[in-house]
Amino acid sequence: MMLKGAAIAAALVALAGAARPQAPAPAAATAKYDLLLKGGHVIDARNDVDAVRDVAIKDGKIALVAASIPAADAGKTIDVAGLYVTPGLIDLHAHVYTGTGERNSYAGDNSVSPDGFSFRVGVTTMVDAGGSGYRNFEDFKDRIIDRSRTRVLAFLNIVGNGMRGGKFESDQADMEAKPAADMALKHKGVIVGIKTAHYTGPEWTPVDHAVEAGTAADIPVMVDFGNNHPDTRPLADLLTKKLRPGDIYTHMYSGLRNELVDGKPNPGMIEGRKRGVIFDVGHGGGSFNWSIAVPMMKAGFTPDSISTDLHISSMNAGMKDMLNVMDKFLAMGEPLKTVIAQSTWHPAREIKQDALGHLSTGAIADIAVLRLEKGQYGFLDMFGARMAGTQRLVAEMTLKDGKIVYELNGLSRPEWSTLPKDYKTTGAPTWDATRR
Ligand SMILES: [Zn+2]
Repeated sequence: MMLKGAAIAAALVALAGAARPQAPAPAAATAKYDLLLKGGHVIDARNDVDAVRDVAIKDGKIALVAASIPAADAGKTIDVAGLYVTPGLIDLHAHVYTGTGERNSYAGDNSVSPDGFSFRVGVTTMVDAGGSGYRNFEDFKDRIIDRSRTRVLAFLNIVGNGMRGGKFESDQADMEAKPAADMALKHKGVIVGIKTAHYTGPEWTPVDHAVEAGTAADIPVMVDFGNNHPDTRPLADLLTKKLRPGDIYTHMYSGLRNELVDGKPNPGMIEGRKRGVIFDVGHGGGSFNWSIAVPMMKAGFTPDSISTDLHISSMNAGMKDMLNVMDKFLAMGEPLKTVIAQSTWHPAREIKQDALGHLSTGAIADIAVLRLEKGQYGFLDMFGARMAGTQRLVAEMTLKDGKIVYELNGLSRPEWSTLPKDYKTTGAPTWDATRR
């Protein structure tokens, strides 16, 4: 195959070199770029790009972003004028450890299959937020991470058994820093953080041990602060004393742990942010309340990262999907550029994944092509309370590793009636990966 391809390429190069005024467009095998997205509005927070740009892709990587790249340089060109072209969305908080058969468990039935919820809303990377601990991470990896087309990363639960339900998640004896750190180091780049969640007791054990593991493995900790114990473990102490700069507080707009006090952000939240603690949305089924989010946003307490907390109870309720959560921040008045940054480069940076979340030359070509629709829409919080909005993001096309993995309206495809009667597959392996 390699020899044959090389021989064809050599022949085509020879042809192109000959004087032929009506030379055809270069064949995919010899084109400078595999794919060109032409005329879209690029938003790339890391590179501070917010303008109409062409994006060229070669071998799964971003080859060039420029004002004008000739279509003749690409094996395939797609007109994306009028659409936004952004890095593939990164959902920092999702639950995808499904398939074990365990009931009422985020290492089982409460989680969802990543590929059913990712590409269709522009998401190319999902981070499982603590479904597994060191005891079952390798089962999670074998069952989901290695078999999904979505890029799945993980926060490893400080609880060895992961999120298997209350009796496991509140078992202090199973919160061991050393084996958690060892597992994280063994799977560096896949385990990108440590998680603590759903702890009901008044002790600091889960937070302390998570930070110990995070320090040993040099990765951030994400905290779901569990039951509220304002006297024994107040939020302000977590954010100003316990967490390190770079650690992540999720469910920031839940209001369940005094995030808002007398209509204003808890002074501990403000102090924590000054120290470098990161704040994440983690919408979920019970962690996003308009009566908390709106005053927090008005006070300037915006999220560092937008995430879904996707699971079986949030997927059809107020949360729905990544784009719907992003739409809520548009409805609260955030500029699109900011919302995109909070869903791409910011989460990538939080988990130290420098090859993701931007469109620099050489970056992994994970891309979302989004349409911003205008109309009359409504967005629900954890209690089903509605906020009206006038904008909704729709994923028109999603690319992972430089190839189309999803498209809504077939922008890359020929009209069927223009094809030969016996037409078959219309894509090419250099740019099309919609079917496996
Ligand atoms: Zn969660």
